[in-house]
Amino acid sequence: MIQELNLARIKDELRDARGQLASLLGLREGTKVERTADEMDQIQAAESRELAARNLDSLARQLRLINEALDRIEEGSYGICVDCDQEISPRRLSAAPWAKRCVRCQEASERAGTDGSRHSIELLREAA
Ligand SMILES: [Zn+2]
Repeated sequence: MIQELNLARIKDELRDARGQLASLLGLREGTKVERTADEMDQIQAAESRELAARNLDSLARQLRLINEALDRIEEGSYGICVDCDQEISPRRLSAAPWAKRCVRCQEASERAGTDGSRHSIELLREAA
């Protein structure tokens, strides 16, 4: 059973975060590539495009995590670690409502380099 989680509140938080991400993604997709005559400008433009592409990638991944969390709320599996089937601590969920792994499994996953999502979430929080 899921502990005293306020799922309605968590859903609101996830939807808010999804709205923010969607508008960020929309802004980036709408960014036009500048045409520059100067070679130095071209190099800088290429670098910022590359950076934008990387950000876009992590935003898209973050958006997917949020959608998955909303799905798990609907399915009733929210708050259960996808790797070990243990309950994710409420403290962790209040800090990261999209968390799909318990702390231990998340750390293991990050060490394995399979999930860089936590970092992008922190960036998003800073940007918000
Ligand atoms: Zn776990």
